[in-house]
Amino acid sequence: MSEEFLRAFAREKLAALEGESLLRTLADTQRLAAGRVRRDARELLSFCCNDYLGLSHHPDVIEASRLATQEHGAGAGGSRLVSGNNPLYARLEETLARIKGTEDAVVFGSGYLANIGVIPVLAGRKDLILMDELCHACLFAGATLARSRIIHFGHKDTSELASLLERHRDEYRHCLVLTDGVFSMDGDRAPVAELFEICERHDAWLLTDDAHGLGVIEDGRGSSIVGGHAVPVPLQMGTLSKAVGAYGGYLCTSHDVADLMRNRARSLQYTTGLPPGTLAAATKALEVIETDHQRVNTPLAHARRFAQVIGLPRPESPIVPILVGDAAPTLKASQRLEQRGFLVVAIRPPTVPEGTARLRCTFSASHTKEDVERFSAAVTEVLEAA
Ligand SMILES: *Cc1c(COP(=O)(O)O)cnc(C)c1O
Repeated sequence: MSEEFLRAFAREKLAALEGESLLRTLADTQRLAAGRVRRDARELLSFCCNDYLGLSHHPDVIEASRLATQEHGAGAGGSRLVSGNNPLYARLEETLARIKGTEDAVVFGSGYLANIGVIPVLAGRKDLILMDELCHACLFAGATLARSRIIHFGHKDTSELASLLERHRDEYRHCLVLTDGVFSMDGDRAPVAELFEICERHDAWLLTDDAHGLGVIEDGRGSSIVGGHAVPVPLQMGTLSKAVGAYGGYLCTSHDVADLMRNRARSLQYTTGLPPGTLAAATKALEVIETDHQRVNTPLAHARRFAQVIGLPRPESPIVPILVGDAAPTLKASQRLEQRGFLVVAIRPPTVPEGTARLRCTFSASHTKEDVERFSAAVTEVLEAA
């Protein structure tokens, strides 16, 4: 009987989502090289993948993964702290710290696991967390787990942040300020230099989530580089699953904070280490990012060309959102693009605020100039038809 109620509960929820054009389905999609995917026996050109540099298909990255798997096995066999701290971690963490210009780095199972692990180590019940209202879902999840007082400030609104700190900082022990470095659904950059300066003035710790910065902006070094200078953000987290093309998350920081995470971050302690093949793939991909500047600079160049043709503002990252508004017409636009051979997913609430459903287009070094031109023409057609 209770099983029946459980099913009915699920069906009712799903029907409600469908009624609002908010139902999600998993579509079998085989990723091919060169920005192509195969879906329902059709080949599509994908403009919604976060593999910005095509490194998931780079022959050297695949070879590094294959060799490590052969040598160390398919899985880690345990938590990093117990039996899973493969020596490949040391090289990966050194490489990350070198690229980010920090003393140390700690690798987690994913970016999500990094945020839900790191934030509760630094903030608790007596502390304050201030976060940009458009922060990624896993920063919200980490802040919620910390059980601190949470206050959101307006998107990139540094004066609101400063006045919140003036008003509330003294009531709390620690204060953590959270922001995406590049906002995942809008593609704009956080004002990292100003945020850092405000945090310094008010004794707050800045954490930037550079999931969409590493490998694609500022010669691949990410969102802490502003006007050619490195802003010494004390907590720089990110993922190995986007431009790096593999899987995993990281925090780049000082030796002391890194050691504290190795001791206290629950999502590092109570979970299995990454597969050796993944560690080797990520390390090799980061080495490509350090040396192949042409590849690193291509996604943003494509995004800028596309935005110019469509008549959108000049992008600051390879993410270009086309705001449609309601969920239903956004889905329709996405379907029309798919009919023309392009894959662009409709991003709907709750991933983005109500009334701001959008086509989120991302550009990759795997795309050719001609791919981008054909895509621009198709988008123009679809938008005109809408
Ligand atoms: C994708 C993403 C994450 C999560 O990273 P995973 O490694 O995929 O778990 C975190 N933050 C932002 C801003 C992201 O876009």
